[in-house]
This record gives sequence, C-alpha cells and structure tokens, in this order.
Amino acid sequence: MNETFKDTLLALFGERASFSTALREQHSHGEGYMFRGMPDAVVFAESVEEVAALLKLCHAERVPVVPFGTGSSLEGHVAAVRGGVSLDLTRMNRILQVSAEALDCRVEAGVTREQLNADLRAEGLFFSVDPGADATIGGMAATRASGTNAVRYGTMRENVLGLTVVTPAGEVIRTGGRARKSSAGLDLTRLYVGSEGTLGVITEIQVRLQGLPEAVMVATCQFDRFEDAVGTVTTALQSGLRIARIELLDEVQIRACIGYSKLEGFDEKPTLFFEFHGSPSGVREDAQAMEELALAFNGSRFRHAERPEDRTLLWKARHNCYHASKWLAPGKDNMGTDACVPLSEFAACITETKEDVRESGLIAPLVGHVGDGNFHLGIMHDPNDADETVRADALAARVAERAIRYGGTCSGEHGIGLHKRQYMAAEHGAALDVMRAIKQALDPMNIMNPGKMLPEN
Ligand SMILES: Cc1cc2nc3c(=O)[nH]c(=O)nc-3n(C[C@H](O)[C@H](O)[C@H](O)COP(=O)(O)OP(=O)(O)OC[C@H]3O[C@@H](n4cnc5c(N)ncnc54)[C@H](O)[C@@H]3O)c2cc1C
Repeated sequence: MNETFKDTLLALFGERASFSTALREQHSHGEGYMFRGMPDAVVFAESVEEVAALLKLCHAERVPVVPFGTGSSLEGHVAAVRGGVSLDLTRMNRILQVSAEALDCRVEAGVTREQLNADLRAEGLFFSVDPGADATIGGMAATRASGTNAVRYGTMRENVLGLTVVTPAGEVIRTGGRARKSSAGLDLTRLYVGSEGTLGVITEIQVRLQGLPEAVMVATCQFDRFEDAVGTVTTALQSGLRIARIELLDEVQIRACIGYSKLEGFDEKPTLFFEFHGSPSGVREDAQAMEELALAFNGSRFRHAERPEDRTLLWKARHNCYHASKWLAPGKDNMGTDACVPLSEFAACITETKEDVRESGLIAPLVGHVGDGNFHLGIMHDPNDADETVRADALAARVAERAIRYGGTCSGEHGIGLHKRQYMAAEHGAALDVMRAIKQALDPMNIMNPGKMLPEN
C-alpha cells in the first residue's frame, strides 16, 4: 500500500484508519490459528456512507478489502492473504428498528447476536440463530451461520429477509424487504448470504424474530453405545417429534465439558441435550415422548431442567465445547471440522467417522447439531508438531470428503474461507464455474476478500 493511499485513508477516517502492527496482527486471522494474512491497514467504519467511500477508493486503486466482524470464523475467512484493508464493522452496531407486530428487525452489520437478544428480551422476542461465538449479525449473514436452534427455527438462510449491501464499486443497494415471501426477480439476498465478503459489504440486515416461548424445558440423556444415541436422534426426527434443539456430544466431548464447565451428574458417555418450546403442558408431553423413545434405545439418566439457571448452565457448557476441547488437550489447538449429511445417511457417516478417529490416534471430540445432520470434530493437535498437524489435516479432509460422498456438504455452517476451497470442485462440479462467473461479474477487479471461497482455476 503506497503512502498516498495511506494519506487518503487518514484524511477520510482520521484515527479510525490504523497502520499499527498490533491492530493489523489482531485483524490478520480469525479463530483458526493456521491461516494468517496481515492487512496493510485496519479501518473502522461508522456508517454506510463511509463504507461506500472506502470501497470507491479501493476499487479505483485495486486495493483488497476484507470485511471483519468479530473474527470468530474458523476457516481462515478474514486472513488478508493479499494485504489491503481490513474493514472492521463492529462500530456499526445500532439496532435500527424492531417490530413486535411484524416479528422482524433491522440492524447494522456490527450488532452481535447477544447484544440483539439482550435488547429484544424486554419485548418478549428473540433472534434464534446462535453460533457458539458472540458473532456479528453481518458476519453471520456472510457465513450463512446457524447453531443449536436451527432444527426448529432455521439458519441465516431462512432468517434473513433483506440486506443493504455496498458493492465493490461503492454503490449502495437494498435486497429483499420485509415481506415474508416474494416472487419478484432473482433472490439477491440469498446470493449475498453466505458470500463470505467476496461480493460486497453487508451494512444492514433485516431479520426475522420469534416470540419467546411460553414454556421451555431442557432434558439430557446418556447412552452406553454411541449408535443408540444416534438411533434416538434419527427416530425422533423421522417421527416428527417437536424439538427446538437436539445436540449430541460423544464420550470424549462430554468428558471435556464435565472438566471445563464443571458439569455435575454426568458420566463420560455419549450424551444428548434436548430443548422443547411450547405451552407448559406441551413441553412436558414432548419431553415425555422423548424419554420413552430414548429408553427404547437403552438411554439412561434422563433428566429435566426447567429452571432458567439450570438450562443456562447446560447450554453454556454446550456452547463452550470448542474451549472445553482445548482444556482436554492442553497446549494443543482445535482444528474444528464441520460436515453435514442427509438425515438418512447420518448414522452411517458418523459411525464411520468415529472409527476413523480411533484409527488416527488423535484426540477429536465429536459434537453436533444433529437435528440437521450437522456435526463437528474438534481435532486436537500441536501446531509445532508437523507430523501431528499433517495427520489432523488428513483426518479433517477425510471428514469433508466422506460428507460429500454421503450426499452432504463439506460445511454445514462454518463456511469455506481458505481452508475448504479444495473441496468446492468435488461438491459443486460445473456449478463452480457459475459461481466464478458471478464473482467476475460483481467484482471484476477482485478486490473483495480475494483468495477466499472459490479455488483458483
Ligand atoms: C467457539 C466457536 C463456536 C462456533 N460455533 C458456531 C456455530 O455453532 N455455528 C456457526 O455457524 N458458526 C460457528 N462458529 C463460527 C463463527 O462464529 C461464525 O462463522 C460467525 O458467523 C462469524 O461471524 P463474525 O462476526 O465473527 O465474522 P468474521 O469471522 O469476522 O467474518 C467471517 C466472514 O464473513 C465476512 N464478513 C464479516 N462481516 C461482513 C459484512 N458485514 N459484510 C460482508 N462480509 C462480512 C468476512 O470477510 C469473513 O469472510 C463458531 C466459532 C467459534 C469460535
């Protein structure tokens, strides 16, 4: 980046344009340690007009722009592999409009999901998409994120109604709207949702909201055999049981949670966490039906948690699985995988994966939003041990390839970033060329997060 360009950034953004090594280093990577790329500058935008001005400038000078939310992405998404500007959106954090009547709201991209939910609680509403990190709504839209609630309420794909986007040339466009459905033209909202900052910068998001349920019940159950836990999940879903969340933790993951989150009363056995939403009698009926099903699969220790503090403890432990895995293997890093397969293939895919982990000799706790056929392995490895890192990467590759072979996807929710570009051809075939054509049409200078998502030809 030349000195004249730096001076222009300073003139436009003052001290909100920084060239400090510490800030650039902080913005050079996401949660996945392996993938780094130092930006030449970090800019904190405060309005859509500022984002447009920055993009016009970068477009004219062909300087790369990497949008940055909280940097919680796991596959090298925010590494500035070709330098340029890391555009931090966390100061665009205003909640612009909430409608309890329409069950929707409009927020700036830097609002985080916890901030939004804290604001909505008083209105008896909540935003359902809940990745384990307190990510920005802009980052979540950009990665098409989901979480434990997706089985009932959907992912960002279903929950984003419309967007404001700044195109690479600095034009401001609005996509979608507030209507619950529309047949008017191409669905640009869904094009930008999941585009990982490669097509433009999302500055505002219109999302669906849900009413807080009248009653909530959480239950847990343990199994001697992993296969029985999986059987319980698939049968529950196939029989249409009304479940808001259903999460599977294998015996290694629950050991990590017992230790890290001080969970009491659990054995080191495959474990299911359930949540039911509805009327007080409805949730009891649903939990009762679930208990009967789990017992039929030799489940034991079926327990309910109705008090908010007990429920919070369990879900906090679930959301902290990633950190608990690090506690289990001190000094090692967590290479988190993320695969998703059709429910009909889930049992076979996950059983094969468990066998693969055993043969690899690596510590790799398994946890999953299994209601969607989505699971993660936290492959623990010492980044300074080249052999172990290669073995970890090979295991991650086999998980991705297996998911595709079973008719699924190499990423259910974390996205592609840098690390998973190698699977895009196997998963998409000739459709990859259509994606490349869209990228070329919308970002001909290739300034938006270059080197990500789409593999080079
Ligand atoms: C402990 C832990 C648990 C997690 N659990 C889950 C989970 O359950 N489900 C899940 O889906 N993910 C999960 N993740 C991954 C991560 O939280 C999500 O990918 C999240 O959506 C990223 O949001 P962010 O604000 O941190 O975005 P960042 O990491 O800052 O950016 C992610 C990508 O989006 C782009 N981007 C960011 N903001 C914008 C914008 N305004 N406009 C255009 N592009 C933008 C970036 O360029 C980048 O490509 C987890 C991560 C951690 C560390």
